[in-house]
Order: sequence, then C-alpha cells, then structure tokens
Amino acid sequence: MHHFHYSGHNLTCESVDLATIAKLYGTPTYVYSAATMADNFHRLQRNLSGLDLQICYAMKANSNLAVLRHFANLGAGFDLVSGGELRRVLAAGAHVKTSVFAGVGKTEAEIKLALENEIYAFHVESEPELARINHVAGQLGVKAPIAIRINPDVDAHTHAKITTGKSDNKFGIPLKHAAAAYEAASKLKNLRLRGVQMHIGSQLTDVAPFVEAVKKVTSFVAELKATYGIEYFSIGGGMGIVYRDALASGPAAWWDAQPADKRPLTPETYGAALTPLLAPLGLKILLEHGRFMVGNAGVLLARVEHLKRGAGKNFLIVDAAMNDLVRPAMYESFHEIVPLHRDTSRRSLVADIVGPICESGDCFAKDRSIQEVGEGELLAFMSAGAYGYVMASRYNTRGMAAEVMVNGSAFELINARETFEQMTAGEKIPAFLK
Ligand SMILES: *Cc1c(COP(=O)(O)O)cnc(C)c1O
Repeated sequence: MHHFHYSGHNLTCESVDLATIAKLYGTPTYVYSAATMADNFHRLQRNLSGLDLQICYAMKANSNLAVLRHFANLGAGFDLVSGGELRRVLAAGAHVKTSVFAGVGKTEAEIKLALENEIYAFHVESEPELARINHVAGQLGVKAPIAIRINPDVDAHTHAKITTGKSDNKFGIPLKHAAAAYEAASKLKNLRLRGVQMHIGSQLTDVAPFVEAVKKVTSFVAELKATYGIEYFSIGGGMGIVYRDALASGPAAWWDAQPADKRPLTPETYGAALTPLLAPLGLKILLEHGRFMVGNAGVLLARVEHLKRGAGKNFLIVDAAMNDLVRPAMYESFHEIVPLHRDTSRRSLVADIVGPICESGDCFAKDRSIQEVGEGELLAFMSAGAYGYVMASRYNTRGMAAEVMVNGSAFELINARETFEQMTAGEKIPAFLK
C-alpha cells in the first residue's frame, strides 16, 4: 500500500502533484512519500507486536539523511554496513546505540568508529573477523558486543545476485560450524556475545523460506541463549514489494482483491507466520528490512527527450538513465513506468524505454506498452525508493539526481541535484602534464 495515485488526470504523491515537483526541481528526480514510509514501519511493528521487537531499518536501501531522520523519529534503529553509513546515522541526528553493523569486510577504522559510538552489536560473518573485532576492542579497552551471522542454507527463490542464505555464497557461517564459532568467540576476552543473526535474501514474495529458515535455527538459538545468555535474534530483512502492479497496489482494496495464493507477501502474513515461532524463544527480535520500508515509497521522475520511431521498433528516450536507476540493467528488474499526466483518449504505444547513455544496457523496459507521450512530457518510474539513488553513479559525467520528500501537502528538496563543479571537485591535472 502506498500514497501514489492519480487525482483526476495527474499523478500525485500524497496531496502533491508530481508535475509541480518536476517543474520546480527538474528531472531526473527521486520523490519519496513520508506517509508511505511511516505506514510501512507501523504495519511491520503492529503485525509483530507479540514480540519484543526492534526494527533496524537496512539503510543501504535508501540512506538519505531525511529518510534516516524520519525512521529515527518513528523509533527505528539502523542496520548499517560501512563507516560512511554510520556517519550518516550521526549526521541525521540519530543514535548508533540501537543500530547493528553488518558486512563481510569491516575495516579496523570502521570497527573503532562503531565502538566509540556504542554500536548495539556487530554482525560477524567469519572467524577472522571475530579476531579483528576482539583486537580493536582490546586497544580501546572495551568489550565489543557481537552476534554471529549464521547461514541456514535455505533457498530464498529470488534473483541470484540478491540471495544470501545458501551455503555457496559468501555470507555467514554454516549452521553446522556455528556452535564452534560461538565457542571460539566466547574465549576472546574483549567480546560480549549479545545475539545471533541471519538474513536469507532480498525481494522474497513468499513467507515459506522465512519460516523454513527460522525453524531450522530455533533450537540452536535456544541453546545459545542457555549457554551464553544472548539477548536477541535478528532474522534479517528481505520482505519483497510489488513491482509489476506497482501503481495499482496503492489502495488496500487491490490487496483484498488478490486471490490468497497469488497475494504478494504482506506484513500481516509475515507476522502471523513468524510470531508463534519466535515468541517462545523469549528473546528480543531484530528486523532489518530495507526494501519493504522504502521501495514503494519512492518514484523516479523523468522527462521524455524523444520518441524515435524505428522500423518495427519504437524507442522512448528519457532523461533518466542506468546511472540514476541501475536495477533494470543490473538485475533485469521490472519497474512500472507511468505518465504523470494520464490521458485515456490517447492511443497506447509499444516501445523500448531507454536512457541516453552509450550502452545498450541502458534500457529500462523492452516492448513496453505505455500511453503515447512525446517530447517534454513527464514519466514516473514506480517502486524506485529502494536501491535507487543509493546505487546511482556518475557514469557519462551525469550528476547525481535530486531527491525530494513529500509529507501531506508539504514537500521539500532533501538533496540538491549535483553540479558539474561538485562532480569534478576532487580532480586535478598533475604537474607532469602541464
Ligand atoms: C541487504 C540486507 C538487508 C536488507 O535487505 P532488504 O531486502 O532490503 O530488506 C538486511 N540485512 C542484511 C544483513 C542485508 O545484507
């Protein structure tokens, strides 16, 4: 459910006409709905209210400072993966104390920064990492709180680049070696064993793999509690969102109309299936959803440059490109693309919707049917709030897009479009070329 819908002919975010934003700030521009983010957060919280819950928003999905502040205000901690992300939490005026630090290659400097800011726990992915954290904690004279990420070897049935809980990928420690890893960790005197973690993948649209993974590890988690007095179990993130019927899935009525066996995963289903499995553990439960929290809360606005009619193929060339939104090029992912001004009297058109970058991979959609639109008209790429701006690059010396947040009838620029001067500020011609 989300707050993007047509009001008359015009696509709006909450009560703001998206064309107004495009005209004020130009394109490409990301627009986020604060109400959608709050709804997503509250729904997750409400449906797992039978548990002692801490939501640690996986900020790699969208780490704009305004987004972080919004979630911090709602009561979220953060799941962060770098020193840069940790500094963003601080810059947003939020706490690191309720946040966890994940990732397979934390540097000594990052570990030090996290300890100085009293991180809630490190999510440790290997035995060498345990030794490194122990070493840095010793230098600082503190005990580092840790949880080990266990790999439950469950197939999340999602895209190969975003599945993480199978034994053949780089994440976590296999369940059969986890007891030994905890025992080794318990002997390192600068560590405190605070919890246990797992995360099986991203964009899961079925609850079954989550249930399977939790069932596989619960007896081990209970043992850890008995042996080491751990206080929490993080079950990771990964709840999927709707990409194909993105616009239609705004109102609750759409969800009610889906046949039960076809309905995408909801917090209601997730909470109902997992709460009874988790509650008996008597542990604090951490959730680390990223995509679910922000994915359907954002769109990318773009302008049509040209409609190029070819022999048997039309190309709609837009001013957004793979550098702004890389998901279609990287994961072959689908984004629904809709006009900001809907005109049902126009014909529809079948076209490849492409960006201006010199790569054939710079294609958002192949043979997509869309209302006929021409030069200067505006489009929205739906479901672009997660893994959109954060994965953008400056390829082709295209500056980073602008970002805007909407809240009811208010909206504000939360990140200005990058200028050429900002883009090239660190570059210089060496003396030997002058
Ligand atoms: C990426 C990641 C998440 C968030 O995944 P989503 O699919 O965006 O919910 C959570 N935990 C860990 C460890 C991750 O790597």
